[in-house]
Amino acid sequence: RELPGQRQEPSRTSEDEESEEEREDLAESSLLNKLLHTSLVENSHHVEVLQQDPSSPLFSIRTFEELHLKKELLQGVYTMGFNRPSKIQANALPILMAHPPQNLIAQSQSGTGKTAAFVLAMLSRVKGAERYPQCLCLAPTYELALQIGHVAEKMGRFCNDIRVTYAVQGNRVSPGTVLEEQIVIGTPGTMLDWCFKRRLLNMRRICMFVLDEADVMIDTQGFSSQSIRIQRALPKDCQMLLFSATFKETLWKFALQIVSRPIIIKLRQEELTLTNIRQYYFVCRNWEQKYEALCNLYGSITIGQAMIFCQTRRSADWLSVKMIQDGHQVAMLTAELSIVQRADVIQRFRDGKEKVLITTNVCARGIDVAQVTIVVNFGLPINRQKQPDFETYLHRIGRTGRFGKRGIAFNMVDSHSAHLVRCIEEHFQTKIKRLDPDCMDKLE
Ligand code: ADP
Repeated sequence: RELPGQRQEPSRTSEDEESEEEREDLAESSLLNKLLHTSLVENSHHVEVLQQDPSSPLFSIRTFEELHLKKELLQGVYTMGFNRPSKIQANALPILMAHPPQNLIAQSQSGTGKTAAFVLAMLSRVKGAERYPQCLCLAPTYELALQIGHVAEKMGRFCNDIRVTYAVQGNRVSPGTVLEEQIVIGTPGTMLDWCFKRRLLNMRRICMFVLDEADVMIDTQGFSSQSIRIQRALPKDCQMLLFSATFKETLWKFALQIVSRPIIIKLRQEELTLTNIRQYYFVCRNWEQKYEALCNLYGSITIGQAMIFCQTRRSADWLSVKMIQDGHQVAMLTAELSIVQRADVIQRFRDGKEKVLITTNVCARGIDVAQVTIVVNFGLPINRQKQPDFETYLHRIGRTGRFGKRGIAFNMVDSHSAHLVRCIEEHFQTKIKRLDPDCMDKLE
């Protein structure tokens, strides 16, 4: 049966496919960040709370006790090793737990405790004694949905009667089933199917609706309209919550379609700067000469940990073979690795097990590697118009002011792209010093 409002998808162009790839990257880096952020990212930045409903109570808590949670839940929180609420939790939890329920839109960077916050809210809102779905939670991919579920299962381990199920592809539920789990976590397509087509649950009894990773979600074809359709069928007094790591204009529009009269919390991401970064460039004839320059760098500075970015998969392969042949211990992050293997490579690197990590941009996009002191651009990042990709450049070598550590960046360019160095200097109003690839004397 065709659902109302369902439209035929237009035929896809290769451009669609390209941007599809980028979207997957977004979801993938989101998952990678989740797998890597096993401890809380402390953010010293200011929290902004914008309140649309002036009568709503608003305060922030300093301890989990102040929330008056069920004791099983508090026990779950402490067993996970959480001693006190993170910044976003301190501000969001009182709103999440408020009576009457408040709608919320919250933005803060990955790793700051958003998932833990809404999972806690779901677990404390559901009535364990009642055997029907009460909370719906949407995430953009299967893996991200499972991640949320794991947190719910861990945090709720002492709440014996609360159960979680997954509305994701491949989770077969026989026809005629009536779901008994109180929390349903899934991706928009399957959730829509479960709600409307298969009618596995009664949407009128849902009291909390959570949209996680909303920024990834709106970049995925069909997800925003599917999410809106689910939301439309929920009771008017159902609590709507939306979480995102970033906040663009498009996201804002989407958020306001789903969440009416929200309280908005923003925890700004600290901005990247090039202030403490010494930047150099070499003009090299070919890969061989770039490689020689790289080897000379090993001799003249004591390398802490270095990350080498290659423009293509081919140059990355070439370089890693070369370095390994010469006896250097390097790790390589490639697109062939599964997401879990990639997280593992990054984790080993973070733990200092390897000193050099070679990667292409696709693999490392959005991954936070703040502790790396040396970045080598084996080729400058350029866009499709062959112009410098400033954002990527900044992302690779920039640091947040708070980590204000010094860093060094080396750019290897060939003679016909040397002018791009000037563009980067101009764009960032910064200085990139030229070095002779055969002689490192000028490097202090
Ligand atoms: P986000 O959803 O913003 O990416 P998470 O909720 O996944 O962040 O939290 C990131 C990491 O920090 C997780 O490993 C989580 O277990 C941990 N964490 C969350 N809240 C706290 C807290 N209050 N105290 C200590 N660790 C926490």
